Amino acid sequence: MNDPLLGADESQEQERSPEIRRRFELAETGFNEIPRKYRKFYRKWQGEGDTLAPNEVLCPVCMIVVRSSRELRVGDRVYCMPCMSRLMVAEEQGMLVAKVVY
Ligand SMILES: [Zn+2]
Repeated sequence: MNDPLLGADESQEQERSPEIRRRFELAETGFNEIPRKYRKFYRKWQGEGDTLAPNEVLCPVCMIVVRSSRELRVGDRVYCMPCMSRLMVAEEQGMLVAKVVY
């Protein structure tokens, strides 16, 4: 499957940190702007009151939530398919945020 989390292969990850990332079961979210097999990796941001899970970041370009089957960490690169942006996960005020990588 085409997880938006780019290039984090398991062996590399164990070298970087002893903690294994939590895995998440992704379910269909009703997001229908991209081909069906990728839909579970994205969902609409519900605005104020919505919260992001540890495997989710908000794309600052199109305001779609990008979801990975694994927990996201600062420094991860993710791909937002709906707007084709490459993003880097960063931390701001204790929250994970995505920044566009040019
Ligand atoms: Zn986007």
